[in-house]
Parts: sequence; structure tokens; C-alpha cells
Amino acid sequence: MLQLITSTMQDDFPLTITSILRHGSTVYGQSECVTWQGDKARHSTYAEVAQNAERLAAALTKLGIGAGERVGTFCWNHQEHLEAYYAVPCMGAVLHTLNIRLPARQVAHIVNHAEDKVVIVDGNLLPALAPAVAELTTVQAYIVIGDGDVSVLGDATVLRYDDLLAAEEPGFVWPELDERSAASMCYTSGTTGDPKGVVYSHRSTFLHALGTLGLSATGASESDRILTFVPMFHVNAWGIPFGALLSGASLHLPGPFMTPGPITDFIAAERSTLASAVPTIWAGILQYGEQSPIDLSSLRMGTSGGAAIPQALLEAFQTKYDLRIVQGWGMTETSPVGGIAHPPADVELGSFEEIGWRMKSGRILAGVQMRIVSDDGTELPWDGAAVGEIEVRGPWITGSYYRAPTPEKFDDGWLRTGDIGTIDERGFFQITDRSKDVIKSGGEWISSVELENLLAGSPDVLEAAVIAIPDDRWTERPLACIVRKPGAGAEAADLAKFLVGLVAAWQVPENWTFVDEVPKTTVGKFDKKVLRARYQSGELKVERTKP
Ligand code: ADP
Repeated sequence: MLQLITSTMQDDFPLTITSILRHGSTVYGQSECVTWQGDKARHSTYAEVAQNAERLAAALTKLGIGAGERVGTFCWNHQEHLEAYYAVPCMGAVLHTLNIRLPARQVAHIVNHAEDKVVIVDGNLLPALAPAVAELTTVQAYIVIGDGDVSVLGDATVLRYDDLLAAEEPGFVWPELDERSAASMCYTSGTTGDPKGVVYSHRSTFLHALGTLGLSATGASESDRILTFVPMFHVNAWGIPFGALLSGASLHLPGPFMTPGPITDFIAAERSTLASAVPTIWAGILQYGEQSPIDLSSLRMGTSGGAAIPQALLEAFQTKYDLRIVQGWGMTETSPVGGIAHPPADVELGSFEEIGWRMKSGRILAGVQMRIVSDDGTELPWDGAAVGEIEVRGPWITGSYYRAPTPEKFDDGWLRTGDIGTIDERGFFQITDRSKDVIKSGGEWISSVELENLLAGSPDVLEAAVIAIPDDRWTERPLACIVRKPGAGAEAADLAKFLVGLVAAWQVPENWTFVDEVPKTTVGKFDKKVLRARYQSGELKVERTKP
């Protein structure tokens, strides 16, 4: 008779952020958190960071923060933010990172919706928080990091971070936590709709951090120094603050210094080995490097995600700085990393062919399951050609939104990403558009992402964003919104000609507009909602080329 056996493993051992902190602060206790201060760096070891986290947890407990209660942060990337990243979840409360670039109305909406009880805020961000303060209905106290005019906080209890920590001793006893309990939360940045809350668990955070460390992801180890320009207020800075302590890599945090000059000074001074940023930051570095000498020689790899990176940018970093930038894909709902586009093993690193592979949006990361589905719900083949909506599931993929029933976002347990694309036989996927950005011309799709990428390859183009506009004959046609490089004189007809042969003739836009800058979202993506609104209000001067 068949006898079933059970596992003899300690399967109830919880995968928690506390165990990441314990590991990072002991085994890698001498690895460092390095915060840039504009002209020099502030260094602290992970052992010191852990002690401060213990002090912070003791102080928050005295302030009445209990299990499951939300603590907001309104901060740049720096050591104190890292301390909160660990103190809050490890004490059993929930870290709610707030996007410092959101309009006051949305900040208030998010804080009230999450019911944040305490908000930790940078002194230099008080002016940004001030317009929301009167609307915050649940916040009982603010903890201010550094100097700043606290009068903008009204009558609320105001405490100073340094004073709070100085009054406490290390040694806070972390509670035993259920790995499925809430650890942190982040609201989507609302590129295509209202912000919705995603709540990460200890388990999802732990597994995601592990998942991003393998050689098919960052391959980070103790010998790395990881610089994240990805804000800690957005999707846990791609999980890097957790991956760093798990792997022993030191963590480089740029503070408020997010422009190319200080960024590249930081890299050169502290010899960062890995750097992560959205394409607009990489583009800024490249442009800056054209006028000022920069030293990126310490970087062994860069990662880019959040939006499609133009091929011209990958090529320029490769040829000018011998720097491989690898593209990844993810969303707030996927913790965020769902795939990284490392080329297959038989492709020579640094070769031209390799860049083509790095132009894929990603290769599915172990732990994540992905599929593409047609409009009528049929699962499509992995042949690199069939185009459908990407759906994902896995231990670090959200299964619902916080207090926002949205059954339409899920399909039988799979998250509907709203991204349209292909998957090939080997699990490389390519996003061709967001469903809200697709251009449907005469019943066929035109990929705005592809047109943007090709146009960005023109020597005259600094930025290119393509949106759909209504068309009597074809239903929709592409409108290319172009920012010319300084001094470049290309006209619409020149750019249309540039595209001939690169895409099918019917995909070449005949509608063009030249703008000073493509509007960006709070996390630096092209804001096509704004472009569409400008088009509708007649603000954009559209030139037509001959089809
Ligand atoms: P928001 O939804 O407000 O933009 P997110 O940061 O969660 O905020 O964005 C996730 C989206 O970003 C994805 O659904 C996808 O459309 C886009 N994205 C992320 N990485 C890439 C990439 N490598 N290529 C193309 N699009 C990407």
C-alpha cells in the first residue's frame, strides 16, 4: 500500500526581515551603509545600523506603535531610512514608504487610506510635506530627521530622530513574527490610474530578496557596493536594501543628491560596483558625461527598469564606458522584480548580439510564473511572436490590493499586469506596450515602445514619446512627441525618413510634435497621460508628414 510521508524539515521556520537583519548585522556586520552628503560620504557598518534600528523600535514602541500599525516614511535614500526599513517591520509594525514627489492631495489620500500613525520625515522635505499636513487625519506624531522648520507640522507631536535614538539603548528584543504578516506597503505611482496599495509580507520580501541575488539576477555578494538611485520610497528600492544585507554587499545611498554631477562623484569616490536606476537617470548620466569627465570604471554592471531603455543608451554605455546595463522588468505589484534580461549562456558578453538580448524586458526569474493571454482569455504560445497581456503569479506577486476590491485585475489567481508583450521559447519576454498606451491602427497594434526606442537612436533626438491619437480612417494613429538634442535641426520629415526600413511603412508616424521636455511621472517615467491631455486640449502643435 502507498505510504505518504511528510517532510522532516523545519518548515515552520519563518522567513522574516528580522532574519535578514540578523544575518546582515552579524555575518556581514562590517559591510557598510554609505550615505552621500554632496561632497563626502557618511559610513556606518551594518552592525551599527542594526543597533540604531533597535533604538528606533524601542522609541516607536514607547510612542504606542503596536503590531500591524503603519509607520510612514517621507524620506530620501539614506542611512536613517534604512534603519526604518528594518526597525518597523521587525517590531511587527508595517513600513509605509511615501512618494515624496506626489502632489499633496495624493499624499493625504494615501496616508489616510493606510492610516499611518507616525510619519518619519526628512527635515529638508518638510516643505514638500507641509501642504498635505492639515489633511492627515490619522498621524499622531512626526519624527524629523535633521534640521528643518517644523512649524509647518502644526500642533502635532514633533520629535527629532537623533534625540529619540540617543534616549534609547540597543538591545530591543525582536518579536517572533509570522512570515505571512504584513511588513511594508507601497502605493502604485498611478501612472495609469489612482494609486492602489500593495502590502508586502515578511515572506514575500525575504524570497524576493533571495530571488534577486542569484547569478541570473544581480549576483551580488560581499565584494559588491550597490548604489541605488531607485528611490526607497518606491517599491522598496527594488528590494536592494534587503538584498544588500542578505548578501553582505555594502549599500550606497545618494541622499537628496540625484543629479548626474553628484551621482557620478559618488560612484567615483566610493567605487560602487553595481548601480540601479530608471532609464531617465541613465540618460542624464550619459548626457552629463558628454560635457564633463566621469569615472564609471568601478561599475561591473548597471541595471535599468521601470520603463523600456532605448538601445542607443545601452550601446553608448557599452562603447564609451565599457559598462553593461542589464534591463529588468517589474511593477509595484511584483515586489518588483519579475525578470532580468541576462543573455543566454552561448552569447558572448559585451558583443553587439548581446545588446539585442539585453533589449528584452527580462527573462523570467525563478520563483515567478508568467504567461501571455489573448483578449478572449486564451493562453498564447511562447514563440516570441504571439502578443497578449502578461500575467504573473508567485510568492512575491500581489494577490489583491489593500482595501480596494479589484477583481478585474486578477485572472484565476494570476495578476493581470496591464503590460502587453511576447514571451519566447526560453522565457525572454518583451513588453511592447502598456494596455492603456497601445496604438490600434486599422485593427493592428503599433508598439509605442518600439517607435520610442528607434527614434531615440536618431542622432538628433534626446527623448521620444509616442501616444495614440484618434484617426477617422484608422481609428488611431501614432503621434511622436520629440525633444531634439541641443543644436539638432531634424524636422518631422527627416525623422519619418529615419524610420523607413526600421519599421513597416504603415507604422511610421505621420503626426509629429516638438516639445521642450517629455513630462515625467514622480518616478521619472514618461507621463503619457499628460501628453494625451495636452493633445486633447490643443496645446501640442502637430505637424503632419506625408504618409
Ligand atoms: P506605475 O504603474 O505607476 O508606472 P510601477 O513602478 O509599478 O508604477 O510601474 C510598473 C510598470 O512599469 C510595468 O507594468 C511596465 O509597464 C513598466 N515597466 C517596468 N519595467 C519595464 C521595462 N523594463 N520595460 C518596459 N516597461 C517596464
